[in-house]
Amino acid sequence: MCFPERRDGGLDITHPLDSERILADLNDEQRNAVSAVAGPVAILAGAGTGKTRVISRRVAYAVATAVVDPRRILVVTFTEKAAEEMQRRLAALGLPGVQASTFHAAARRQLAFYWPQIHERPLPEVINTKMPIVAPLARQLPGGFKFTPAKDLTDEIEWAKNRRIAPHHYAAEAQRSNRKPPIAADLFATLYRRYEDAKQRAGRIDFEDMLSLAVDLYQESGQAIDLVQQRYSWFSVDEYQDTNPLQEALLRLWVGDRRDLCVVGDEDQTIYGFTGASAEYLTTFASRFPDARLINLVTNYRSTPQVLELANRLIAATGRRKELRANTPAGPAPTITAYTDGDSEMTSLVSAIRRHLVDGVPLAEIAILVRTNAQLVPFEAALTGAGIPFAVRGLRFYVRPEVRAAQAALRHYVTSGTLSQDILSRWRAALGFSEEEQPADSGAEARDRRASLLALLAIARQVEAADPTAGVAEYLAELRRRDEAERAASDLGTGVTLSTLHRAKGLEWDAVFLPMLEEGTLPISQSLGDAAALAEERRLLYVGITRARRHLALSWAARRANAQGRPTRPKASQFLAQLRPAHVAPANADPSLFEALRAWRLERARADDVPAFVVADNKTLQAIAVARPTNTAELLQVPGIGPSRLERYGDEILRVVLDD
Ligand code: ATP
Ligand code: MG
Repeated sequence: MCFPERRDGGLDITHPLDSERILADLNDEQRNAVSAVAGPVAILAGAGTGKTRVISRRVAYAVATAVVDPRRILVVTFTEKAAEEMQRRLAALGLPGVQASTFHAAARRQLAFYWPQIHERPLPEVINTKMPIVAPLARQLPGGFKFTPAKDLTDEIEWAKNRRIAPHHYAAEAQRSNRKPPIAADLFATLYRRYEDAKQRAGRIDFEDMLSLAVDLYQESGQAIDLVQQRYSWFSVDEYQDTNPLQEALLRLWVGDRRDLCVVGDEDQTIYGFTGASAEYLTTFASRFPDARLINLVTNYRSTPQVLELANRLIAATGRRKELRANTPAGPAPTITAYTDGDSEMTSLVSAIRRHLVDGVPLAEIAILVRTNAQLVPFEAALTGAGIPFAVRGLRFYVRPEVRAAQAALRHYVTSGTLSQDILSRWRAALGFSEEEQPADSGAEARDRRASLLALLAIARQVEAADPTAGVAEYLAELRRRDEAERAASDLGTGVTLSTLHRAKGLEWDAVFLPMLEEGTLPISQSLGDAAALAEERRLLYVGITRARRHLALSWAARRANAQGRPTRPKASQFLAQLRPAHVAPANADPSLFEALRAWRLERARADDVPAFVVADNKTLQAIAVARPTNTAELLQVPGIGPSRLERYGDEILRVVLDD
């Protein structure tokens, strides 16, 4: 039997559901999971093992075997986009009517339906963004706090609400959880209370209210809980490792004392801990449902053995063993490249993309993944410059609100001094922006916003350097030109994906680039010295590595201009050292190569008039003789070879290996 398999794992089934066909192209473990259609099931499995695929197949199988009416199924996904994708997969399986949505969307739909029946009044209007309420409150904050981005404040409100922490408990809870609020905790608690008051006065509710109102409704009204439990009887939750307390509370009410719940997740991919999510619900599932079927999937269908070896090493460095078994043919070795500076990293990355395109890798199968939104900006510019179409997951630089606001602040503004000085004074007055370092404890949005403004300032300095008489009008024209060019490059439908690691969750590409793997970037500076935060940074890298099907390029640069254009000397991310082979058995060393390397070392030590071990010690030579590197990236993976040895001896060593 043979049927067309699409990339996303959906079967092209256009005729009635056939349970045999649903199971046919699954492995035994997956088949077990898919055919376990009743009772509690937990699938705890690593990246790319088919968890998401199992969820859609399991739904189809349950319907095909008449275990459940498709209208009574609720599939919960992590993002709206994932929900659309799940719906598409289910439709491809012949199940257009099944509900797949996020917790929020499900709560919204249910409240819209049940709330008026129970309360005999309409559901208050739901605000899609907290900004219009929070922004004015932020502007009333004392002193420099009034420039705190409203987004950082709304993120913090969401953290509190996701954990059901009321304003008057905020300060104590924040302290207990070691939380670093974007502004002083007591000040934030007041702002949070004023936000709640203002929202209530306006008769509105927000997204978290929607979840808590649903929880309250089901807790208080026997009629409501009966209605929702009659409506839904069979549940699946994808990415369960990133569920927050509010979502979990709602899920428990939906399920009640029934048992048809299937959760799917990977604790090593928990990357939303900072928003209040916890992998604990996944890891404690078995103790909460003692008769749950626990299914472990170990075969990875996404990545080459080479990519998986790297992923496995990152986990092994934590002292655990969790091996993903590869099922795809061997591919090229992932590269870990140390560049001398950020510019050469960028140039090489663009050439590598070009080579992939020449080799037939489609544009849409290439992704560049970075730690923060702001880090995407130079890639947007570089790809535009290189004429390579791209698509930003999230907002493109020139449409970000802070970039728009910075331009708006300059309109009708006449320069009197130098362009950049005038811009700086205008932005200081209008936006509270200063080029000097910002306080270390400011939130993620503040850092992103600052980076955007610094990027805009760098463009002003370029304009100024090209034409010292240029004024604001010329500058704004240049920004418009760049915006146009980037819009054109990103509007073509398909392009190289530019995304943060967070937004890359659940997705996959043929070729993945993970640049800027430096201390202070990944791991991000705020996580240094905080074990839990550092562990989440490692999981982010794990998510990044496991997105790659075949080509994976990790890199960092030993010199990089910071956002102000000043040179910095970053160190390689601490995680990179852990990706190198842990132990190299000397027995595997190629004896003739080892001897050749020793001869080279002797010659080189004499020429430089240094002791032999300064060039390289025996362990390093042995490791080279084991690994037989054929390029600088492979050589850099050899223990004992760092960027400085590579720079000094790299070419010679590679020649010795090649000649042997
Ligand atoms: P993640 O942890 O990253 O979310 P996942 O466990 O959800 O990954 P999927 O996205 O479901 O994994 O599957 C990964 C890839 O492997 C997809 O392209 C999917 O179609 C493919 N795949 C999964 N199982 C099989 C199989 N039995 N045969 C062929 N391909 C498979
Ligand atoms: Mg998945």
